[in-house]
Amino acid sequence: MADNTEKTILCNHCEREITTKDDLVTANLIFSVVPFHGKCYSNALKGCQTVVIGNTPVNGTASTLLSVLAVLLGLISILGSGGPLPAPVGWILFLPAIYRLYSYLAYERYLR
Ligand SMILES: [Zn+2]
Repeated sequence: MADNTEKTILCNHCEREITTKDDLVTANLIFSVVPFHGKCYSNALKGCQTVVIGNTPVNGTASTLLSVLAVLLGLISILGSGGPLPAPVGWILFLPAIYRLYSYLAYERYLR
């Protein structure tokens, strides 16, 4: 396993290093999760990148709650066939949680 303290996180907007967790915002970009400085994220949202960047930060509280709810709903759909949603929709509901986990594993755990 990689050393937890030996990764440099570069902002997707200004390409400078992000040094603290407080300054880190991760966001969906197409099908990946990319890191931003808090300020750069709002600048990127205002600018032309707004079309491709998710409006909700992946590492925000709202996103965490939403991914937990989505996973529960997904599990219900997959396990209880004939439930409120068809099984394929259930799998799609896991995506926010996968992004959330990826954000943690790829960036957040390297910062304090
Ligand atoms: Zn930046």
